[in-house]
Amino acid sequence: RAKEAGGGRVEVYAPHMHADVVRRLELGSDLQQALAEEEFAIEFQPMVDLATSRVTGVEALLRWWRGSEAVPPEEFIGPAEESGLMVPLGDWVLREACREVARWRGDAWDVGLSVNFTARQIAAPRFVESVAAALEETGLPPQALTLEVREEVLVEDAGQNVERLSELRNLGVRLAIDDFGTGYASLAYLGQLPVDVIKIDPSFVAGLGSDETRTLLTRTIVRLGSDLGLTVVAEGIERPEQLEALREMGCPRGQGFLVARPMAAGRVESLVRTNLEGHAPSGDVALPL
Ligand code: C2E
Ligand code: MG
Ligand code: MG
Ligand code: MG
Repeated sequence: RAKEAGGGRVEVYAPHMHADVVRRLELGSDLQQALAEEEFAIEFQPMVDLATSRVTGVEALLRWWRGSEAVPPEEFIGPAEESGLMVPLGDWVLREACREVARWRGDAWDVGLSVNFTARQIAAPRFVESVAAALEETGLPPQALTLEVREEVLVEDAGQNVERLSELRNLGVRLAIDDFGTGYASLAYLGQLPVDVIKIDPSFVAGLGSDETRTLLTRTIVRLGSDLGLTVVAEGIERPEQLEALREMGCPRGQGFLVARPMAAGRVESLVRTNLEGHAPSGDVALPL
């Protein structure tokens, strides 16, 4: 490992520096090595049609295996952006994930792919071109790809972001608002944004069945989404009573540990195989829910 060899690694210590800043700098240089040494991997978490339990899509989630420890994305995505690595890293995620899913679709499974993007990734030069190129090179149809962005990406100072995402949307790519309900995208905005999917934040789902306000809000978002012609996905389903409540209120889609954990590509493939060999009609992959 380059780390032990000390090759080119610059350590910066200054007494006035906050420990956090030092940690971020170190993470930044470790990330460069990680990219070179292929320590990154992608996991796929299924999303289902709540009425039928059919898997309608998978969300690509980036993993960093630093030694034997998995570093959570929330810890390394910020530093990756600051060190300029998030754009090549995000490009790698998109291509790898498109390639896998295009292969699964080749086996007659009509599955979609969702990929997360930050504001800085969208603002990067040639963002639109790089997404279009990934689709073209992997053969994934644009209609099978959904870009997930958080509310602030579309609302806060978002002129250029919205324009770029609209360009991709004109190609057929779909757009999802991630973690809906926690940020600035007031309900009034929804009708104006170029959006196809809203993903209800797990904090709402967590309160289903126990917290009256959160239950009421979830019901309202589900109804509003459907009135606006949007696909609503409930995120973070962990308990059977949450699943029941969502089914009862007619929420179309769901995702969460109870539905399925994020899994390696090989596990998705064995899921497909089990389904094709079993009861499911051809091309359908359903989960036992
Ligand atoms: P997200 O896009 O909202 O992804 C959902 C997160 O919730 C994932 O965490 C997933 O593992 C977790 N999750 C799913 N179901 C459950 C559940 O039932 N309970 C709980 N407690 N958690 C659940 P993860 O993989 O740690 O990712 C965290 C965030 O990092 C993501 O949130 C996304 O914002 C970001 N991220 C992950 N991969 C990428 C990537 O390739 N690019 C970018 N830009 N961001 C990424
Ligand atoms: Mg997401
Ligand atoms: Mg989310
Ligand atoms: Mg999140």
